[in-house]
Amino acid sequence: MKTIVQKVVESYHHDGTRLMDILIDIQGKIGFLPQDIVRQIANELKMSEVDVEQTISFYHFFAQKPKGKYAIYLNNSAVANMMGREKVAKAFEKEVGCKFGEVSHDGLIGLYDTACIGMNDQEPAAIINGTVFTRLTTFRVKELVRDIKSGKKVEEMLTASYGDGNNNSEFLKTTVYNNIRKKGPILSPDYTPGDTIRKIITLTPEEVIQEVKISNIRGRGGAGFPTGMKWEFCRKAQGETRYIFCNADEGEPGTFKDRVILTERPRLLFEGMVVAGYAVGSTQGILYLRYEYKYLGDYLEHVLQELRDKNLLGENICGKEGFNFDIRIQFGAGAYVCGEESALIESAEGKRGEPRDRPPFPVEKGYLQQPTIVNNVETLCAVTKILLHGGEWYKAFGTKDSTGTKLLCISGDCLYPGVYEVEWGFNINDIIEMVGADEVQAVQVGGPSGACIAPKEFARTLCYADLSTGGSLIILGKNRDLLNDIVLNFTEFFIEESCGACVTCRSMTLMLKQKLEKILHGHGVKKDLDDMVSWGKIMKASRCGLGHTAANPIISTIKNFRELYESRMDNSKKFDSGFDLFKAIEEAAKITGRNPKKEGILAH
Ligand code: SF4
Repeated sequence: MKTIVQKVVESYHHDGTRLMDILIDIQGKIGFLPQDIVRQIANELKMSEVDVEQTISFYHFFAQKPKGKYAIYLNNSAVANMMGREKVAKAFEKEVGCKFGEVSHDGLIGLYDTACIGMNDQEPAAIINGTVFTRLTTFRVKELVRDIKSGKKVEEMLTASYGDGNNNSEFLKTTVYNNIRKKGPILSPDYTPGDTIRKIITLTPEEVIQEVKISNIRGRGGAGFPTGMKWEFCRKAQGETRYIFCNADEGEPGTFKDRVILTERPRLLFEGMVVAGYAVGSTQGILYLRYEYKYLGDYLEHVLQELRDKNLLGENICGKEGFNFDIRIQFGAGAYVCGEESALIESAEGKRGEPRDRPPFPVEKGYLQQPTIVNNVETLCAVTKILLHGGEWYKAFGTKDSTGTKLLCISGDCLYPGVYEVEWGFNINDIIEMVGADEVQAVQVGGPSGACIAPKEFARTLCYADLSTGGSLIILGKNRDLLNDIVLNFTEFFIEESCGACVTCRSMTLMLKQKLEKILHGHGVKKDLDDMVSWGKIMKASRCGLGHTAANPIISTIKNFRELYESRMDNSKKFDSGFDLFKAIEEAAKITGRNPKKEGILAH
């Protein structure tokens, strides 16, 4: 009889580049990936055990030890904390009887921290065995743990009322809410699947690329590279085959628009991938979907099948001889750095998601060393509308250099958190008014890797030339301790998510945190601020965007909120080691149960 491992590996044709899927499937069946399973996988794939293990060890959601029959991952992002995560975490610890990072003594429940799960507009939120639970309260925690202990399945633990829109459909049945607050041309429901494909097959691929270039659309993931140019490079690159990736790994804390698009407009997105395939001459599209959105998997597979049935995917699409294109879903397993396009490709090849050195760029040598396009979810949706209505139509939205609209994910201290589609050129003051916020101390634009701006800059506009953003905007009220609640949380996030390949990123994120804590504990001097600013510059030598931006939470707050740092420092001091001998003795004594005063170690 075949083992689970044999069956799963066989279903992927013994293809080692599908290691991520193989590990996800096997862990889904067994619960974790112990060493004997690793050995079996390695044997079946004719790889070394180390190769399998290094992939497992890279991703947050893979486990080599039992995680508990019910693994509870509670988001610990800054906004989750702002919305009451600590109380919920304590309630879980009390009800379950173990701490976060542990499994209950009976092996039933494991408690884990996790970074932003794309639910900032409905925190505190957790993932339990792949199912998302939002708006948690201490009471709801009691109910959940009681249900788990009574043996209920996770789906049975969802309350009777589901979220809005397709969250309520038979394929999703989730309590997640879309919270779409403002629709523009991308989120508008006025769209019939297939209209764009029927139009582009009357054009040449070069004409399709030209239309995208006319629209002047730039990548919506944050980097802002011109989409038409990217497609042209890929079409012209030498290769036996080409690949279209959709990057749905939105891991920037505070971002959740892709989740909403995938829930409400998946056909628009998939049609954009087909358009890209036609333009560059590709037959294979891959949706790289973050593991946190695994609950969307069956629903998206259903939509893909529906498109195949309507001949909008598959062979000879819409009757066009030789126009073949299909899409598969590739899940990640929890690693923020995989949002970087070359890391995402490495991950899709079954490896650790470490960014590649460039050049060559993915458009020349990407997935399986073939020319590859990686586009953001929002970009591909916009492309569907651009090809339907024309590049000039799209250019009428936004500003001269930042054309079109932008989906914003707004969360934090405001009355109306959610997704807003606005034209580029919106300023921060308008946004604050739109989302019902007042007494605003700061706005974090672009997530932790972006900038924390002060009220004096609220007239600045969202556009590539001024405040560029992938979509995350976090409103921070006057009651927040910016350095402790936000900057420290963001810095810890980068430490956790650094892949470790560059010394600058691996060690300086940690050094920045130590400096920040020194200041927070009242031992900071001016030189500490100067050091952090100069380290931020050195970090620009790192290989990828994570290292380039990991110092931003500190650097942008030193620039815009320097008084918050200085108020915790003694400006008369030139030097402070940050080490308090007496405090350290007291702490050590507490741990060992000794009494230093009685023993004469401390005088008083
Ligand atoms: Fe890895 Fe950081 Fe270097 Fe990027 S900058 S490759 S995340 S160590």
